[in-house]
Amino acid sequence: MATLEESKNLDSSLRENRVFAPPAEFAAKAHIKSLEQYEAMYRRSVEDPEGFWADAAKELEWFAPWTKVIDGQAQHTKWFVGGKLNLSHNCVDRHALGARKDKVAILWEGEPGEVRRLTYADLHEEVQRFANVLKGLGIKRGDRVAIYMGMCPELAIALLGCARIGAIHSVIFGGFAAHAISDRVNDAGCVAIITQDTSYRRGGEVKLKAIVDQALEKCSMVKNVVVYKRSGSPVEMKEGRDIWWDQAMLAAGKECPAEWMDAEDPLYLLYTSGTTGKPKGLVHTTGGYAVQTYLTSKYVFDLREDDIYWCTADIGWVTGHSYVVYGPLQNGATVMMYEGAPNWPENDRFWKIVDDHKVTVFYTAPTAIRAFTKWGDEWVRKHSLASLRLLGTVGEPINPESWMWYHREIGKERCPIVDTYWQTETGTIMISPLPGATPTKPGSATRPFFGIVPEVVTRSGEPVPDGQGGLLVFRKAWPSMARTVYGDQERYEKTYWSDIPGSYFTGDGARRDADGYYWLMGRVDDVINVSGHRLGTMEIESALVAHPKVAEAACVGRPDDMKGQAIAAFVTLEGGQEPSEELRQELRQWVAKEIGALARPDDVRFTDALPKTRSGKIMRRLLRELATTGDVKGDTTTLEDFGVLAKLRENEE
Ligand code: ATP
Ligand code: MG
Repeated sequence: MATLEESKNLDSSLRENRVFAPPAEFAAKAHIKSLEQYEAMYRRSVEDPEGFWADAAKELEWFAPWTKVIDGQAQHTKWFVGGKLNLSHNCVDRHALGARKDKVAILWEGEPGEVRRLTYADLHEEVQRFANVLKGLGIKRGDRVAIYMGMCPELAIALLGCARIGAIHSVIFGGFAAHAISDRVNDAGCVAIITQDTSYRRGGEVKLKAIVDQALEKCSMVKNVVVYKRSGSPVEMKEGRDIWWDQAMLAAGKECPAEWMDAEDPLYLLYTSGTTGKPKGLVHTTGGYAVQTYLTSKYVFDLREDDIYWCTADIGWVTGHSYVVYGPLQNGATVMMYEGAPNWPENDRFWKIVDDHKVTVFYTAPTAIRAFTKWGDEWVRKHSLASLRLLGTVGEPINPESWMWYHREIGKERCPIVDTYWQTETGTIMISPLPGATPTKPGSATRPFFGIVPEVVTRSGEPVPDGQGGLLVFRKAWPSMARTVYGDQERYEKTYWSDIPGSYFTGDGARRDADGYYWLMGRVDDVINVSGHRLGTMEIESALVAHPKVAEAACVGRPDDMKGQAIAAFVTLEGGQEPSEELRQELRQWVAKEIGALARPDDVRFTDALPKTRSGKIMRRLLRELATTGDVKGDTTTLEDFGVLAKLRENEE
């Protein structure tokens, strides 16, 4: 990592002074009601982590108690040693056999508009039957099972069914192509794959089963394919290999006791988004992950009995694992799930869903928020959104102006916003406001969650003074951290635990302000070095996005004889705006005025769209390659739309 070689800190110029206190009415009813209460709990969580996490774990059901809460340190830490539990039991049985039996667990809307409601009792029956289907195929504890589906209740049932028998699931996002599936299936040695005939997306159908068939030509270990019938569109079924979900469910027994899993047994593996390179298959385990998904969901989303909770992430990403399935279900929440695109049939589908189902908590990504602003406020204003009480964001740094738009247009200046910073590797939210306690600042993920000890450091691990940028690390292990990269412990240790000895290195740049708030500055790999000043991408991009005509921006460094690197800005404009030489110059001056002449982009390139991962993250490494060599040769398996790249290449010529 070239950028890490230098010991110099990151330069920071963004100064955001707006502060929003939690609304008094919200705070009064919240789990955590004040900053003082947060601080007292935080102090205990780092001074007495064993006591703190044991208390949290006791809110779940264990088949057998642990003998030690924390064992070992850094990458070798084990949690709840000797404890036995099952995630499917904690997500489902605990509620289905108690007071939440008839409460809706999953509230689902298909893209064509149909609605399904599964109570906890329904979910209990479905998950047990599906677990028996898996057992019937000879799948056992420790086997890897791939899941390649669209967003439907059966996807959640598939995860929970695997968890119930101790099979390790590996969900592959339903937008990936055949070669991405075969790579992942082979890397993990999956013995079966769960899929569906087709899923609905933007009025069309994604032929999931056909793509699986193609992928499996290269996967010799897969013995069975279970096919859920979603649309009824014709598919080929391979004799002896493929079985229909519904037929197998009818034939399967109704009861399947949950396997007693060891706290350190793997629960699932999941590949990262591939924003910075080839995706890594991270392994998450059972006990610590259960406790921390439970606790973060409870406090960050402030879950209450009557909430209709909607995290718009696809279950194909870690956000969907932790905050569509495992976290909220362990809390006994009603989880909203939507199958399709946010702009189908029109740009206001999300807001219609919020009003129709009286969604109270809404959690989405900055990329979605930037799309909403681009589509125009009129789509939002057609709906009341009066049921909302809390908003969240995750996935990328949110530009302060996007935050303000979210606050104003969606939250109606009434709903707190939780900007949650975390990673596939961390398993759960690491830095985030607690909505009843933490005053928010647009663009800051604010303060660490309980038990999390972030620090901003230099390359050699020395703390950087507040106000200056540096590398974000976590000093202490936490329960839900990934334990390894599947089959490659060396890569795991090298990527995360060797740059800053004894600490977990996130790969992200950050600064802490005088109030102890963290501001994510972008990925360390993306840092731009202008005349010896090291600039994070986030601040320059935020300055550009703050211009009324700009919708999105991505900045990268390209080689420059004089300055080392020059700044190339790729910019998309708000609906109705036209690129011009005048606007190009205006934007360059605008950045110079907003954050300083040093950050003035050397080039401003207008484009219709930016290259993104399928989870919606800007892939700056592709833009950097393009700006440097005029072409792109790096790993593009996770790129969402190849057309975007083709167009950018054309513009180069
Ligand atoms: P890869 O690791 O394969 O390059 P990725 O890092 O995009 O892909 P994820 O684990 O999905 O894979 O994303 C985690 C990263 O997303 C973080 O390291 C950070 O860069 C960014 N991120 C997530 N949430 C936030 C947030 N609230 N603020 C700032 N950055 C965020
Ligand atoms: Mg990453």
